[in-house]
Amino acid sequence: MTRAFAEPSGGPARAAARPSAPAVRASTETVQVLVINGGDPYLPAFLAIDGAMRRAMAERRPGPVVWLNESIDTLRLGAAPSPILAELLARKYAGVRIDAVLLVTESAVDFYLQHRQQLWPQAPALYHFVAPDYAARLPAAAGLSGVPVHVDYAGAVRLALALQPHARRALVMAGVSPFDDVQAAGFRAALDAERKRLAAEFVVGEPLGAAAERLAHLTDDTIVLYASLFRDRDGNVYVPRAALETLGARSAVPIYGVFESQIGHGLTAGAIESLADRGALVADLVRRALAGELAPATVEPPPAARCVADGRRLERFGLTARWLPADCEIRFVEPGFFQRYAWQSVLVGLAFVAQSLLIAALLLQRRRRAAELSLQAQRVQLLHASRLAVAGELTASIAHEINQPLAAILSNAEAAELLLHDGRADRDELLAILSDIRRDDLRASEVIERLRALLARHDTQRRRFDLNGAVEAAAAILRAEARRRHVAVDYDLRARRAEVLGDPVQIQQVLINLVLNALEASAEQPPAARRVRVETRDSATAATLTVRDFGAGIAADDLVRVFDPLFSTKRSGMGLGLTIVRSIVEAHGGTIAAAAAGPGAEFRVVLPHAPQADTP
Ligand code: ADP
Repeated sequence: MTRAFAEPSGGPARAAARPSAPAVRASTETVQVLVINGGDPYLPAFLAIDGAMRRAMAERRPGPVVWLNESIDTLRLGAAPSPILAELLARKYAGVRIDAVLLVTESAVDFYLQHRQQLWPQAPALYHFVAPDYAARLPAAAGLSGVPVHVDYAGAVRLALALQPHARRALVMAGVSPFDDVQAAGFRAALDAERKRLAAEFVVGEPLGAAAERLAHLTDDTIVLYASLFRDRDGNVYVPRAALETLGARSAVPIYGVFESQIGHGLTAGAIESLADRGALVADLVRRALAGELAPATVEPPPAARCVADGRRLERFGLTARWLPADCEIRFVEPGFFQRYAWQSVLVGLAFVAQSLLIAALLLQRRRRAAELSLQAQRVQLLHASRLAVAGELTASIAHEINQPLAAILSNAEAAELLLHDGRADRDELLAILSDIRRDDLRASEVIERLRALLARHDTQRRRFDLNGAVEAAAAILRAEARRRHVAVDYDLRARRAEVLGDPVQIQQVLINLVLNALEASAEQPPAARRVRVETRDSATAATLTVRDFGAGIAADDLVRVFDPLFSTKRSGMGLGLTIVRSIVEAHGGTIAAAAAGPGAEFRVVLPHAPQADTP
């Protein structure tokens, strides 16, 4: 088996057969460059490098370049290419002029050095995507120039620790192919330097399904580092990026890595080299070699590794980009509220403006009764629109909450199918599986039912209802969102006479708006301070609902202004949430006030008890 990243095995005697003066090609002449890839040239990273290399070459060299491609694929398959392959290539290209040979990965360099006498000894040979120490060990007499790759494993570990400072354990996910081994070894060395802070664990060769399941059950005291998964111990072959997508979809914690092609496909952050920069560097090297401008055995420094993160995944795990280095590039930043809900925002805004204009016009005409009725209708519409907007904010967590029982149903159904196929079906076991399926189905439909109740368009109700019950219904809707943002929400519902008169769905909306603000205010806090407290209490005449957080709090000057329409200190805030909350509370005959509560903010809603005699 050829080692993918190992000692150069060309042997000095043969390697010394370097041409003394390769033919120089004028920059307008057509040239033919043969690329030999030691791996799968269709891997996303190679495709990205190749594309950038061709573009840069077309920009910098006036004459046409014909790219010829061969792959020996030992990186993935792990078998030594037979000398017959060299023979075959020599025959295939007999009579074809090769002006330069570009060797991608160490196994391609090894292969070439072994068979150079047969394979275009006159052409300049260049390499890239090899380890720096491998490049340093290449015999100088071979005269190979190239761009090694510096994979920044330690950088990835540092980023992980910046985002998960309380982590105590690091899990490295790797396969068993030669390349997978090299990646795992890189992380092993980086983790060794952190052994006082992190216990390192290596999951090597686990089949993809089991590995994904393992990640689904982790908690955020564990850092997951993705080495590479070309092959598992059962011999299944994967594209590492596609395997990462499966892991990323299931993982309960962020995954970190070192390759740019994996950003956007499951990594939360990585210390990575730009593939486009690499392509451009390699193109320049090839161009200089063709023009005879390159000194033999030139080693170009690789592009520097830098921090890149996936904004969507930071958001999914409730992480803030502020903990990353200031120059970290955040990709896939989710559009702000206004961009995402552009037309809904315009609608809500228009409804708001229309409402104000209408009130003014109707008041002017002293048609108060008509104005009230019309206002009522506008209000119902506005409240409904704002509930839809809130549901939009909760989409990610709701999808997750529905997905979980659906995934459980699927795996139970598959298990049952397997039992039936194998003829092992035991009636009791099948009954137990069916009962699990029914339970998970009910769980999913409960989530949908709760949402339907919140989102249905209905006229404002006026009935007697239990404040604690409304809080519990809203709590069920908020649960997944709080978990997603890693905020602990405690409910302490001690109001005994909690009956109020009005619309329970609107009171749910009040609580949802207040708690969402509190969750957002908690995001910047360290994990221990990410707490929100919801309380109900009662006095002789009224029930009180309090929402308290331990976030940045509210400046004294803003305590009253927060309820003003369009007042917002958030980048993509609309400044309507608290205005709507206050209008609902006042329509219920109640009051709301904001207070700075030591660290954090507190919102207190007071609602009068329903009169004893009132009937529903
Ligand atoms: P939005 O959330 O769109 O900004 P809101 O009307 O809900 O609109 O809130 C208005 C402003 O009140 C917010 O931008 C923020 O400055 C402040 N605010 C609301 N809740 C809190 C809180 N729990 N902690 C700190 N500030 C808050």
